[in-house]
Amino acid sequence: MSILKIARMGHPVLRAKARPVHPSEIRSPRIQQLVDDMFETMKEYQGVGLAAPQVHEGVRLFVAGFPPPAEGEEEDEDDEQGHVPLFALINPEITPVGRETAEDWEGCLSIPEIRGRVPRHRQITVRAFDRTGKKVQIDASGFTARVIQHETDHLDGVLFFDRMKSFQSLTYLDEFSKYWSSKHVRAE
Ligand SMILES: [Zn+2]
Repeated sequence: MSILKIARMGHPVLRAKARPVHPSEIRSPRIQQLVDDMFETMKEYQGVGLAAPQVHEGVRLFVAGFPPPAEGEEEDEDDEQGHVPLFALINPEITPVGRETAEDWEGCLSIPEIRGRVPRHRQITVRAFDRTGKKVQIDASGFTARVIQHETDHLDGVLFFDRMKSFQSLTYLDEFSKYWSSKHVRAE
């Protein structure tokens, strides 16, 4: 497995629409290797999500999730991010459930050291393929739904800035920790 180079804001690959992965292609060594490398890259940079265009691959797939804190490690009581299991989704299609939206902090591995508040659907259903080529349907809410929406946006060339209602909350990470939150908001 290898750690891949992450495209930063300004690279055209982040603004392009990614192509669907043909179902017969999912189990190919190329896609399987890409998924493995993306998990490895996300772990290296302590992200909670990573979409293929962020590693210069214009295909519709992303990886997401992070493990619960290790035994003995401190867990923030009011950590709204909770624990998101590791998963990879290919050709995701999101349907919002209800009209409710929620605004919360987001970061992006392609926009390092910046955090901002982004409105997202609170609840969604996502249809996709998993890495074995099986069709899956996931009902997600809260932070997991937020991550899935952020990553799926990357497949359409959309960055979280584009979803913000106002840029007033934009903050650098140091100032974020100092003035806005003590909790660590992982980048996606
Ligand atoms: Zn991102």
